[in-house]
Amino acid sequence: MLQPHPHICLVGGGFGGLYTALRLGQFPWTSQLTPKITLIDQNDHFLFSPLLYEYVTGEMQSWEIAPSFVELLGDTPIQFQKAQVTGFDLAKQEIHLAGQSNLSYDFLVLSTGGQTPLDLAMGVKEYALPFRSLSDAHNLGEKLKSLEASSLNKIRVAIVGGGYSGVELACKLADRLGERGRIRLIERGKTILTSSNQFNRETAQKALDKRHIWVDTETVVESVTAETISLRFKEKLDILPVELVLWTVGTKVPDLITSLELEKTPHTHKLKVNQFLQVENKQNIFALGDIVSTPEAVPSNAQVALQQADYCAWNVWATLTDKPLLPFRYLPLGEMLTLGIDEATLSGLGVNLEGTLGHLTRRLVYLYRLPTLKHQMTVGLHWLTKPLLEQF
Ligand SMILES: Cc1cc2nc3c(=O)[nH]c(=O)nc-3n(C[C@H](O)[C@H](O)[C@H](O)COP(=O)(O)OP(=O)(O)OC[C@H]3O[C@@H](n4cnc5c(N)ncnc54)[C@H](O)[C@@H]3O)c2cc1C
Repeated sequence: MLQPHPHICLVGGGFGGLYTALRLGQFPWTSQLTPKITLIDQNDHFLFSPLLYEYVTGEMQSWEIAPSFVELLGDTPIQFQKAQVTGFDLAKQEIHLAGQSNLSYDFLVLSTGGQTPLDLAMGVKEYALPFRSLSDAHNLGEKLKSLEASSLNKIRVAIVGGGYSGVELACKLADRLGERGRIRLIERGKTILTSSNQFNRETAQKALDKRHIWVDTETVVESVTAETISLRFKEKLDILPVELVLWTVGTKVPDLITSLELEKTPHTHKLKVNQFLQVENKQNIFALGDIVSTPEAVPSNAQVALQQADYCAWNVWATLTDKPLLPFRYLPLGEMLTLGIDEATLSGLGVNLEGTLGHLTRRLVYLYRLPTLKHQMTVGLHWLTKPLLEQF
């Protein structure tokens, strides 16, 4: 299919969408074929979510972890449009935007990411804070500031979910609150970090113990109020006073995607894509990241979305230039967790690291993973000069 100047629209500028757009911008397009590439996001910034914890502790600032799309795309042929996508007309190949005219596409790339479900227990939506976006982290920071400024002797925090986010957040908050913090991690399963390997799980457990973080396993949250959290362990119900409840459990596919008349998986409602990341029966619609289910089961994380972005960009380009498409193959590279200020654990490619060395390696890997070379250099230079600047 050789089509002159097609319009490629990418919905969602996260790990899937932004990195696909950046790759697309780098392909050797012939002048006749050069596409118009539009990246649409409801926010004006990208979010490097694995570093969101560092924003809460003040180790990093928003410009480092959430650079604006305008800044990131300045030197590229990609156009950014800030808009909330409200729906699609797949027959007319149009995207509906809140308060703006519809946008026509020739190729559509969907990567809206997931949402945190806040309807899994009573009172969660009203009283618990999610931790997914920059504004969630900002709200948490403001709440912490007001608690720190209060006359409270102890600040009691319940973190729901013993997965990566819950454990990482617990360690960071313990370090931020110090002696005043009373942190409780609540997990309904028998153990924390069920999908981690033994090294990372044990290192994380040590980090939690060192910070006196209380871990409740096999415990279910019944309800949350402005001042309490109700926990059920076996048949016993405990109502505990808390200043703050953080909800890190679950990821759901947004209604925008579930309402699409495209094939989805029965329970998770993820979009079914083929090995080339195309949605069923639509060769011009690609999807990736947390919202898709691929023929080979893969986790929902940034590492997968990043790897899919390379394939997705290639396959859009290949479709337009009549080249062979590449089937997506996931290459697990390991996992890294931050475990408090200046401490991390990582395990992958036969290497296990913890403590300060783990922390430094994690930082370097993430620096390399930041979206553009310019942003990598600006942030890297800032990290190098920060210790010097802090002396003055
Ligand atoms: C706190 C936290 C820490 C994490 N740490 C790690 C980690 O250490 N390692 C790891 O591998 N993974 C990690 N993850 C998971 C990882 O962030 C996700 O798997 C990854 O971001 C998925 O990429 P995506 O492109 O599918 O979605 P996202 O990166 O979430 O991007 C979705 C984008 O779509 C936009 N969008 C959504 N709806 C609309 C709409 N209607 N209109 C316009 N724009 C829209 C959003 O604003 C967003 O920019 C973490 C997640 C969180 C929340």
